[in-house]
Amino acid sequence: MTDAVYLDYNATTPLRPEVRDAIVGALDHVGNPSSVHRFGRTARRMVEDARERVGALAGVAPTQVIFTGGGTEANNMVLRCVPATRRMVSAIEHDSVLQAAADADLLPVSADGVLDLASLDRMLAEASGTVLVSVMLANNETGVIQPVADIARICRAHGALLHCDAVQAAGRIAIDCALLDVDFLSLSAHKLGGPQGVGALVLRGDRVFDPLLRGGGQERRRRAGTENVAGIAGFGCAAELAVRGLGDQDRVAALRDAMEDRLRTAVPDAGIHGAGAPRLPNTCCVSMPGVPSETQLMALDLAGIAVSAGSACSSGKVKASHVLLAMGVGEEEAGSALRVSLGWATGPADTDRFVEAWTAVHRRTHRPAS
Ligand code: PLP
Repeated sequence: MTDAVYLDYNATTPLRPEVRDAIVGALDHVGNPSSVHRFGRTARRMVEDARERVGALAGVAPTQVIFTGGGTEANNMVLRCVPATRRMVSAIEHDSVLQAAADADLLPVSADGVLDLASLDRMLAEASGTVLVSVMLANNETGVIQPVADIARICRAHGALLHCDAVQAAGRIAIDCALLDVDFLSLSAHKLGGPQGVGALVLRGDRVFDPLLRGGGQERRRRAGTENVAGIAGFGCAAELAVRGLGDQDRVAALRDAMEDRLRTAVPDAGIHGAGAPRLPNTCCVSMPGVPSETQLMALDLAGIAVSAGSACSSGKVKASHVLLAMGVGEEEAGSALRVSLGWATGPADTDRFVEAWTAVHRRTHRPAS
């Protein structure tokens, strides 16, 4: 469909043209970064160049960046490999954290989706040994931003380690690891205009832990395997463009806010989840009471509009989103939520098309009985 509208940037972001060029340029070069000859040295330079740019995105030195096969791998490295006697994760984490730490204590959030700091403080005070805490910087479904610097202060006071999944935040808000004061931070290239299947784990200092992948000595012995040179080169280019493009986020927020105003006007009982908390500029999670998310998704897809359900599909069954349930949203309302996520190529024509199609679905499903 030529006039398709893509509003699913939180699932994956369209590749920026400059990133595509960087990837193709790297693919055209033969060389393993571990080889000592000139071909290898050129490949190594591409990887180290990208490491510098990704470090700049997170406000850290390049030596603190370990390239991975994506955000899921970075999260698994921390949750499965960092030694801790106990782990605590927020109830709204991505599955790549929740599943990697299935025995973790869940930290509650408020109705707006913000971590309950008093509960964190109390749970840490009651715990003994080394605790590893994991709280995301911004939620993938609602866009709600967590007060990570405050969370870090509480963790420090109790001697706990802090991991932060910044996969959705990177490129949408500025990230400064020194201000956030986290021990580990996860990133993923495809959420910020880079390719899929490449990410990074940012480490404070020289943290030692057993690698998830064993073999060669790549990535300073923390992640074995020949580097994905083309993917990493694309990640580096996307990271630099994302830093430069942060100024565009005001435009994206204005588009999102105007879209939400129109949704609320058209359907006054539409719930916009997390709207009372600081949020990413690009994300809107909206419920249409009484209409299941799948029904809305299919109708929108037929109209050429791509968005996501605010729910997870597993073994053929659509479950209400664990994020919305943790915020105290009822099963039915949670089961009628959509996630609309905007980005660098989104314009007013795209959000207009969504508003029109979504309100048409509402009209069709709420026709008075004749
Ligand atoms: N963390 C969050 C918050 C995400 O939204 C995602 C992907 O949707 C991931 C981690 C996983 O990242 P990747 O797709 O690079 O494995």
